[in-house]
Amino acid sequence: MCPTPVSPCSACGAFTVLHRDNLYPVTLVAAVLDCVLRLDQQPTAAPSPPWSQLANLIEQVPDTGKELDQCKAQAHALSGLIQRNWLGPFDQLCLSCGVIAFAEDDGQVDAVETDTPPQA
Ligand SMILES: [Zn+2]
Repeated sequence: MCPTPVSPCSACGAFTVLHRDNLYPVTLVAAVLDCVLRLDQQPTAAPSPPWSQLANLIEQVPDTGKELDQCKAQAHALSGLIQRNWLGPFDQLCLSCGVIAFAEDDGQVDAVETDTPPQA
């Protein structure tokens, strides 16, 4: 599946539009991060400063390869839930302003009716 290019939100202009075609790649990243966080849940002797564990988390990313099938299954399930519960029949959701919309066809903007007659 080839991800759909992101167009800016027609309401707020942000590039935080989540298109239904991009749900799986986004949820796969979330599933891999979830796996990394679960692998890192080891008791520590003392509390550590914020961000000090980031290097440890990054070192565990290669370990997620062993659980990649589980990550993919988690991503498929989550993308299905997002599609059903958030998008419904719509194509995209702006994560900035919350507008849901149907995708525009090939960048063509729908005609807008105005009172101004077309110029010859
Ligand atoms: Zn928006």
